Amino acid sequence: MDEYDVVVVGGGPGGAMAAKTAADKGLKTVFLERGRKPGDKNSSGCGLGQRWWKDYPELMEKIMELPSARKVEMVVINLLDEHDRLRYKSGTTGSDLCANRWRGGMEGVSVYRKDLDPFLAGLAESAGAELRTSTLVSDVMMDDGAVTGVKTGDGESIKAGVVIAADGGMSTMARKAGMRNRWGGGCTLVPQLDFSCDEKKMDDVIGNAEWVWFGPLYGTYQVNFRDGFHIGAGQWLRPDWDEKPLDMMKKLVQMPPFQAMCRSIDAKPREYQAHLLPWLKKPPKTYTSGMMLVGDAAGFPCPLEAEGIWHAVTSGKVAAETAAWALSSGDVSERKLSDYERRWKASDLGKEHEFGEEFVNLWNASIFDPEGMKRQVQLLLEFSMLHPFSIVFDWGDAHMDCFNQHLDHMLDLLPEFGDFGKTYLVPLARGIWPKNVKHVLLMAKPRIPVLKHLSDETYFKVMARFSRKLAPFLDPAAKQEAPLPRGSL
Ligand SMILES: Cc1cc2nc3c(=O)[nH]c(=O)nc-3n(C[C@H](O)[C@H](O)[C@H](O)COP(=O)(O)OP(=O)(O)OC[C@H]3O[C@@H](n4cnc5c(N)ncnc54)[C@H](O)[C@@H]3O)c2cc1C
Repeated sequence: MDEYDVVVVGGGPGGAMAAKTAADKGLKTVFLERGRKPGDKNSSGCGLGQRWWKDYPELMEKIMELPSARKVEMVVINLLDEHDRLRYKSGTTGSDLCANRWRGGMEGVSVYRKDLDPFLAGLAESAGAELRTSTLVSDVMMDDGAVTGVKTGDGESIKAGVVIAADGGMSTMARKAGMRNRWGGGCTLVPQLDFSCDEKKMDDVIGNAEWVWFGPLYGTYQVNFRDGFHIGAGQWLRPDWDEKPLDMMKKLVQMPPFQAMCRSIDAKPREYQAHLLPWLKKPPKTYTSGMMLVGDAAGFPCPLEAEGIWHAVTSGKVAAETAAWALSSGDVSERKLSDYERRWKASDLGKEHEFGEEFVNLWNASIFDPEGMKRQVQLLLEFSMLHPFSIVFDWGDAHMDCFNQHLDHMLDLLPEFGDFGKTYLVPLARGIWPKNVKHVLLMAKPRIPVLKHLSDETYFKVMARFSRKLAPFLDPAAKQEAPLPRGSL
């Protein structure tokens, strides 16, 4: 029987990074992939955001060079009304100056998984990990409740010091080890359609951008590659949703503005898939004796918009580091491996899930609520008409009257959203940095006659007494940048 320090199940982003990290640490490592090669299935959109420049700059440099890569400098939001007419188009953060937080500015990248996964797997192999493809893992080996290795579909047993399960949302490993049977709510099925396109026309029409389409019934992302794109629509697996994934996809491709875009870049449908994606308020338990779960197997995708590749790579790294530490002490018990959870909760990965419940609830009550979405689009459209650039082009009346008519209508619509705001937006306020709250209060101070002569410290004390909601932000002991202790899940 073959024996390794670390056996990684899955050759996706999480598995490759776990294998690379384990091999870098000098551990005898194998990673097992059921596909003929990593990325075989070409699943998922695969847009990688700006934070890759912060955490993995050397990788990002090389990913930008992969054949299917298209730079992403902004996200274009297309807003459709109840008749599927394109009514509003806007872009997120158009300037590097807005968010030049780290090298790369606003730059992200989109790349097909058939390029990304082999690239990441190659890094693991270069570090010394062994990759076995066309190897389906069908079971875990257990001894006295502890995972001690894996069994392949061909009947081979492979012994492991530690198993890292990176086998995706359906994780056979998690189920076979008795960690869970089903996700139990919160998973979504993403129907997706891939198109081939004319590269030059894409450059002209799409540019360096991701696109999204929002409107009644639709919350659709469009990830644009060098000469093709995916669209995908998240859909909760819930009984009160009467749309079937394929029907929903058919409706999407029939939207006239979408068809116009397709015509202009010679888009031709190429492949239809539907994938399960864990989209959870918080990940369930991620370790057991002898085994850790990473990436989708652990339920890590972002609870707001289900980005998951950074999460897979990051958790793969943390899991392999934990494995090296546990193996060096000769103890891979459940208690020892619980340190994995402590570590990821203390990292940016943990921070991502601190607002999991609020984000999932917000999404559920907006993008995934067709009736609510109809009214929200109306509100957003009125709101957009108050923008100075829009009011210049409203010739329905005298400009000031136009402004007032839109304001009037928006104010009429607003009370309906009072409950929505109270339920879904106010809970997010606790995430605002105390230093930003103080900044706003200091801007108001000179305008408050009685308070303007107080020292800043006394002023904050008065404000804290005046409002219980403000008090936690004004407590001198409160953290300046991160209001919540990391890992407070
Ligand atoms: C439609 C869609 C669009 C998405 N778009 C984006 C996006 O734009 N950006 C982003 O960051 N995230 C996106 N995500 C999420 C992202 O794809 C996942 O979070 C990410 O792929 C998780 O990586 P992973 O390594 O954990 O799992 P996976 O990518 O699922 O990899 C698992 C690997 O394990 C292999 N495997 C599975 N079972 C076995 C087994 N029993 N034996 C051997 N091998 C096995 C599989 O073949 C696969 O190669 C999207 C997801 C979907 C479904």
